[in-house]
Amino acid sequence: MLSGLQHFVFCRRQWALIHVEQVWAENLRTVEGSLLHQKAHDSLDRESRGDLFILRGVSIQSRELGVAGQCDVLEFHRCSDGITLKNKEGLWQPYPVEYKRGVPKENDADRLQLCAQAMCLEEMLSCDIANGALFYGEIRRREEVVFTHALRQKVRGCLEEMHDYFQRGYTPRVKPFKGCSACSLSELCVPKMLRQKRVEDYVNEALSESLGLMHTQEDNE
Ligand code: SF4
Repeated sequence: MLSGLQHFVFCRRQWALIHVEQVWAENLRTVEGSLLHQKAHDSLDRESRGDLFILRGVSIQSRELGVAGQCDVLEFHRCSDGITLKNKEGLWQPYPVEYKRGVPKENDADRLQLCAQAMCLEEMLSCDIANGALFYGEIRRREEVVFTHALRQKVRGCLEEMHDYFQRGYTPRVKPFKGCSACSLSELCVPKMLRQKRVEDYVNEALSESLGLMHTQEDNE
């Protein structure tokens, strides 16, 4: 799933728990995020405004990259070197827009997801897409993203790694970091427990406690 790219960039273990092990937990952020996407998709699915044509909730895929997903909003801007569209006069340049809750992130997760969408659209529509935009719900503003060669290479690298993990059914080990406090899977991933002690020590400790309890019960009988 193309949307998994943002999980993978945030934390490879989180991505594997969701997409390889099929574990999912909702928290406030994920609920708010899905409501924002629903809002983007619930509006009219197509709209024309002069030199702008808008489609919403567009299914996309790339055979080359091996991903599929959805584009929240796909704008087409009338221009002289765009592509033709069915039942539309003139030439149009595709411009993907992705809706996100919150504010722009420090990492590249959102930019990579948008770039991957553009790469899918380029393959599907046989065109070049130089840029798109991220819309952030908290600041209610767009941030333009240029799809550079470096960003595209990073998308390819991440997707290759994701395919490799998926085929091997591999879930990376816990490496706690500050993002864990906002992670919807923190209760399932248990980073604090694993940071404090090794699993083996934890299990041995739990067994000793149980044996101790059993001895106490026998002594009392
Ligand atoms: S709790 Fe931390 S290490 Fe575990 S999946 Fe979430 S972000 Fe990754």
